[in-house]
Amino acid sequence: MVDADTKVIQIAGSITVDELAKALGLSVTSLIGELFKEGIVATINQRLDFDTASIILDELNIKNVRLEKKNTATQTSEHRHELSDKAVGRPPVVAVMGHVDHGKTTLLDTLLKKKTVEAEAGGITQHISAYQLDYEGRKITFLDTPGHEAFAAIRQHGAMLTDIVVIVVAADDGVKPQTIEAIKFAQSANAKIIVAINKIDREGADVPRTMADLSQHGLQPEEWGGDITMVPISAKRGDNLDKLLDMVLLTSDIEELKADIDIPSEGLVIESHMEIGKGSVVNLLVTGGELKTGEFIVAGTTYGKVRTMLDFRGRPKGKATPSTPVTVTGFKDLPNFGDSFVEVADEKTARKMALLNAQVAQNANASANVTSNDLLRMMNVADNSKVFNVIIKGDVLGSVTSVVDSLKMIDTGGEITLNIVATGVGDVTENDVYMAEGGETVIYGFNVNVPTNIAKMAARDNVKIKNYRVIYELLDDAKSEMEELLPSEIIEEDKGEMKVLGVFRTERTSIIAGGEVLKGEVKPKMLARVVHNKEVIGEVEVESVQKEKMAVDSLIAGETGGIALKLVKRLTLEIGDRLKFFTREVKKRKL
Ligand code: GDP
Repeated sequence: MVDADTKVIQIAGSITVDELAKALGLSVTSLIGELFKEGIVATINQRLDFDTASIILDELNIKNVRLEKKNTATQTSEHRHELSDKAVGRPPVVAVMGHVDHGKTTLLDTLLKKKTVEAEAGGITQHISAYQLDYEGRKITFLDTPGHEAFAAIRQHGAMLTDIVVIVVAADDGVKPQTIEAIKFAQSANAKIIVAINKIDREGADVPRTMADLSQHGLQPEEWGGDITMVPISAKRGDNLDKLLDMVLLTSDIEELKADIDIPSEGLVIESHMEIGKGSVVNLLVTGGELKTGEFIVAGTTYGKVRTMLDFRGRPKGKATPSTPVTVTGFKDLPNFGDSFVEVADEKTARKMALLNAQVAQNANASANVTSNDLLRMMNVADNSKVFNVIIKGDVLGSVTSVVDSLKMIDTGGEITLNIVATGVGDVTENDVYMAEGGETVIYGFNVNVPTNIAKMAARDNVKIKNYRVIYELLDDAKSEMEELLPSEIIEEDKGEMKVLGVFRTERTSIIAGGEVLKGEVKPKMLARVVHNKEVIGEVEVESVQKEKMAVDSLIAGETGGIALKLVKRLTLEIGDRLKFFTREVKKRKL
């Protein structure tokens, strides 16, 4: 409940200590002083993000102020202009997502083989991040991404890329965790969903059950009166793929996808890497205008003149219209995956804009120079937070970005801080191993090679190199590495209680006594707290229990018997003392 005199402070992105003080009606020095008492060293111009400011309010026990996130225009809306009335139709951009092994790759491969104009000998061997199909005289752009994390990365970079998400669900396996993730992604990206129920050629395929499963997760099939198109397919045999493509086109018609073409060209970086002899090789998806060779473009903090432009098959292309994926060379540096690019008039403007972007990026970093994690760390005087050091190597910049962004998204409840020591494109090198030495750093490779000599060197130096081809496996591994860093959890369970009726022998490390079990039970190996006059005076371990001088497995409530206790430190047990039995388990914690 918010009462009338609650004050609302709106925070757009971040707020400086100075601004926060003013908003709270405190003097800056007193706010800094209060923060200092909480163990936070802040300066007047320090920027605090929303979460941090909330924590501070909590810490200072300020109740009559409520913080509110102010919606700033997202990059998404900046990216997608209002269309002019000269806008023309454009092909849909489709992403294929779903649980691992449900058939995404097979679907993309089969479509590519079947539907591209020339399935010439040799075909396409290198990894492509996007391709375009010709179907019924129209074009459809498909994105091939290293995983959902790639989309998460794109979303983080603020750009909306996909019009339609085809969610692949295996009819013999049903809805699985990554299916749910895909649904959530598509919904949050505002993309239209089409479900491909795959592997219908399999014996265990059960289309109605899969549909029921999907409807449990919020996707109601059209057949059942819902609004989601579901197409049963076999990606492997090619069954019903035409129907799937028909549905893609139908959906895109309903959406009336359009773009302006008489504007400076613009779009997004979907992959980038360095190649010997070519320099930066960058895959772009044009979203507006027409990109041509010779044009100057800026992407993030880098720029270039488009030297060569190829289509996804590696054939020269003079002009790329909206929704077309192309590969260009000419960038001075590698732009980031998810960066948007835009055409500018000349080199001078390009250079200036790239510089400006660099400054903005720097300010953005500085704008939240205290994050809530940092703050929690600072407040925790004992600093229980552990640091997980990693070096990330990937085949292309896109995978590095995806891995980094996904690692950052692993929620450790502030207990573990991710420290990215270094990242890079290419195989794991000697230098990576040097950097990882002694620092408890794990090197993660994604789709790269670990040369034998490097593996040997790492083994010798006790450096862990872990190489993965599937991002989820990499993330699972990182998670379990982080779990290793978490302090263990101690679980104690009460088991019973005994009243001491006699003490027969007391030695330095053991006691033999007799008593009555008042409740529960007692068994060898249990632990017990010794309570004398309501005060715990020590902890002992039960070595054995006896009933009528015979060793038994347990004594239960109501029974009397003998008990041998092992002492950790000297202790005197007296008649009338209580033994409170319990078990203790040390458990590794999970994230
Ligand atoms: P991804 O992890 O989603 O990319 O899945 P893949 O495309 O790699 O497919 C996983 C496995 O399922 C492979 O062994 C495929 O051959 C198989 N598979 C994919 N689609 C079908 C299908 O329609 N029918 C059958 N029987 N197997 C399929």
